Amino acid sequence: MQRKRHHTKYIFVTGGVVSSLGKGIVSASVGALLETRGLKISISKADPYINVDPGTMSPIQHGEVFVTEDGAETDLDLGHYERFTRARLNRHNSFSSGQVYDHVLSKERRGDYLGTTVQVVPHITGQIKENIFRASEGVDVAIVEIGGTVGDIESLPYLETIRQMRYELGGENVVCIHLTLVPYLAAAKELKTKPTQHSVKELRSIGIQPDFLLCRAEREIPSDLLRKIAVFCNVPGDQVFQAVDMDSIYKIPLMLHQQGLDQSLVDNLNIWARSPDLREWYSIIERLDHPKQNIKIAIVGKYTDVVDSYKSIEEALVHAGISNEAAVSVVYVAAQDVIAKGPSVCLEGVDGVIVPGGFGERGTEGMIRSIEFARCQNLPFLGICLGMQLASVEVARNILGLHTADSLEFAPETTEPVIFLMEEQKGVTNKGGTMRLGSYPCVLAKSSKAREAYGKDTVMERHRHRYEFNSQYRSRFEEAGVVFSGTSPDDKLVEIFELQGHPWFVACQFHPELVSRPMGAHPLFKGFVFAASKKKQDKKSTRHTE
Ligand code: GLN
Repeated sequence: MQRKRHHTKYIFVTGGVVSSLGKGIVSASVGALLETRGLKISISKADPYINVDPGTMSPIQHGEVFVTEDGAETDLDLGHYERFTRARLNRHNSFSSGQVYDHVLSKERRGDYLGTTVQVVPHITGQIKENIFRASEGVDVAIVEIGGTVGDIESLPYLETIRQMRYELGGENVVCIHLTLVPYLAAAKELKTKPTQHSVKELRSIGIQPDFLLCRAEREIPSDLLRKIAVFCNVPGDQVFQAVDMDSIYKIPLMLHQQGLDQSLVDNLNIWARSPDLREWYSIIERLDHPKQNIKIAIVGKYTDVVDSYKSIEEALVHAGISNEAAVSVVYVAAQDVIAKGPSVCLEGVDGVIVPGGFGERGTEGMIRSIEFARCQNLPFLGICLGMQLASVEVARNILGLHTADSLEFAPETTEPVIFLMEEQKGVTNKGGTMRLGSYPCVLAKSSKAREAYGKDTVMERHRHRYEFNSQYRSRFEEAGVVFSGTSPDDKLVEIFELQGHPWFVACQFHPELVSRPMGAHPLFKGFVFAASKKKQDKKSTRHTE
C-alpha cells in the first residue's frame, strides 16, 4: 500500500477570488483529458464545511445531492466527475471537515492518541491525507478538488495538507492548479488581474506556490495580460491558461487541451502517457453544435428558483439531446403556480414534462395536476422518484377513482396509501443516511417501453428515497392499463411503471439522471426525448395538413 501511494500522482485544484468559478468542471475536465491519454484517474472533493455529508442540507443552499453507487450522499461536483470520466466514485471520493473531525474525535475518545494533545496540525491534516490516499488507491493520477475559496478560515487545514504533501512527495508527484477570476470592468473597458495576484499571494503566504493558473474570464484574455499574470504570480508563462466562458460545459476539456494543459500536466508530473484520443469529445461537440431540432421540456418542481437543484436532470437532458440530435431547452415551472394558473397555461408549448424528485408536501398538488395534464394530452412524461410516487397517486385518484389516494409522506392518515413505508423504514428517527440509498438491481418486463429502451433484462439504478409503491394496489393498477415494467428481483418493490396507449408515460422510483453521460445518454431520458421530438414533429405535420 505504501508503495502504491508513491506511484500515484496528485493534482490539487483550488479556487480563488470568488466561489462558483467552476472548479468542479475544471477538475472533471482535467480527469477527462488524462483519461484520453490512457491514464487511470480518480477525482475527489474535499469540502471544508462541518456537516458530515450534504444529505441533510437543503438543495436551496447546496444544490442537488449526488448519490454514488455505494449509496453515499455527496456533493453535486461528483456528478460532473462521473459524467466527464469513466471513474466510478464511491463514498471515499467525497469528504467534509465534519467527517474528518468526526473520525479524529472518535479516535481521541478511544484513546488512540495515547495522551498526546490532538491538534489541527498534525492530526487533522494527517486524517485529511489518509482520506486522500484512501480515495486514490490504484490510480495513476488522483485529482482532488478543495471546496471553498482560498482565504476562507475553513479551508486552511486542506491547504496545509497540500503544502505538506508537496513537501513530502515532491513537485514531480504533486501539483496545484489554482482557478481564479479575471473580471472585466465595463467602466474601465479592461480585464483586471489584481484579484488573481492577491489570491495567489494568499496561497503563497500559506506556503503553496501554484504550478498552474487557470484564469476564468468572460472574454478572451490578451497574451500580454497572461504574461503579466505569470510574472506577478511567479508561474511559468506556459502554465497560465485561460478559461473563457463557453456555451456548453462539454466544450471545456477540448478548450483546455488546445492550450496545452494536459501536455503540461503530464510533463510536470513526469508521466509517460500516450497521445490523447479525443475523438469522442470532438463528436460530442459536433452533435451539440448541429442539432436538427429544438425541443422544450418542462421540469415541474419545488426548487425551481434555485440553480443547480436539478443539475443532473438538466445534464441528462443535454445528453439525451446529443443522442437524438436535438437541442433541449428546459423551462422550470414552479409546482405551486400550476394550481394558481392551471396546467394548460404553465405547460403551454412544451414537448414533454418531467416531475423530478423531492421531499415534503409543498407543491405536490401542482405536480399531480401536471401529471394528469401530460397523461390526458398524450404529452411525453417522465416521473422520477417523487415524480413516480405522485404519478401513482394521480393514476389512483383519476383512473381508479380512489379519491383519497395519497402518499403517507404527506397524508399519514390517508385511507388509500398507494405510497407507503416499508417495515424497515418505520422506526427511523435519524435523518442522515437512513434512506434507501445507492445502486440496486431492477428487472425489466418483456415487451415494455422500459425493456425496449434499455435493451437488456436487468439494470442497476441509483436510489435515494424512503417511501415505496404499495404493492397491494398492483392488480388494480394493472386492470387500469398500468404496466409494472421494472421491479426488484424478488418482485416486492416497484421500480418502474408505464402506461399503455400513451406515447411515453414512464415513471421510475430511482434516479436515472445520476448515471447519464454525454457519450451515453440514459435510456429512459433518451426514450423520453425521442418521444418528445416525435410529438413535436407530429404536431408540425398536422399543422401543415390543416
Ligand atoms: N420524498 C420521497 C421519498 O422519500 C421521494 C424522494 C425523492 O424524490 N428523492 O420516498
